Amino acid sequence: MKFIDPHIHVTSRTTDDYEAMQAAGIVAIIEPAFWLGQPRTKVGSFQDYFNSLVGFERFRASQFGIKHYCTIGLNSKEANNERLAEQVMELLPLYVGKEGVVAVGEIGYDDQTPAEDKYYRMQLELAKEVDMPVMIHTPHRDKKRGTTRSMDVCIEHGLKPEMVVVDHNNEETVQEVLDRGFWAAFTIYPHTKMGSERMVDIVKQYGPERIIVDSAADWGVSDPLAVPKTAKLMLDKGIPEEHVHQVCYQNALAAYSQSGQMKESDWEDVAIDQREKYSGNSVLRGGQTPKVKGSSDIVEN
Ligand SMILES: [Zn+2]
Repeated sequence: MKFIDPHIHVTSRTTDDYEAMQAAGIVAIIEPAFWLGQPRTKVGSFQDYFNSLVGFERFRASQFGIKHYCTIGLNSKEANNERLAEQVMELLPLYVGKEGVVAVGEIGYDDQTPAEDKYYRMQLELAKEVDMPVMIHTPHRDKKRGTTRSMDVCIEHGLKPEMVVVDHNNEETVQEVLDRGFWAAFTIYPHTKMGSERMVDIVKQYGPERIIVDSAADWGVSDPLAVPKTAKLMLDKGIPEEHVHQVCYQNALAAYSQSGQMKESDWEDVAIDQREKYSGNSVLRGGQTPKVKGSSDIVEN
């Protein structure tokens, strides 16, 4: 089975992760711009980060046979540094139109402060202006109210629900998100919060329409194989294969292909050639043998 993980911060992951993801059937991923665990102090740090999302990380993923896309945005935590946020806002229009950028995101609320609200609204306006999908990060604290508010503000700004993916849902939020016509994404956190077992129950209860499964794996305790593992559990628990395909592949493709930047043929004939370099840099270290793999054959080099 093929999978898309439409929310994973692979910049923080290892080459072992990439190899395991590819072996498990992940063909494409979306890496949302987010915060890196500590606040950035200069706009140049954001610029270099955005450059890596549309540049080196795309290349690195390709070296392991995975198609990499990203979203560009100012995350809610760092929106609270207004002086810096203003400068980041000036950068965003330069990046949202770049190749492989499939949404404005992940944006939304963290503590639901006035500054977060201000930059969330500005970025919704940007998304509307360039006709791009939006990826929303809903707050982990006061989630129900924060999720409702995130959608209210989208509607207030005239965004179409079908252009907006609301992420980090749970049992308390899913009904409203689906009722209002938004995409409802679920982040599978190992050990806590939203686990695979609960995801199975949600798909059983609500069906596969507009539901999306992702890992949001990053630099914290998380699992880059959360999507294929959850898919397997769904199949084991009797969810039909078409439904699993829909929530672990097709819905993400439908939502983010609205950007015009993502299509199935992008990964139909994927080839791996680790002899390739990015600005002179290889993923290989001294003396390692490059893997060269066409769509159907492996050529020893
Ligand atoms: Zn994230």
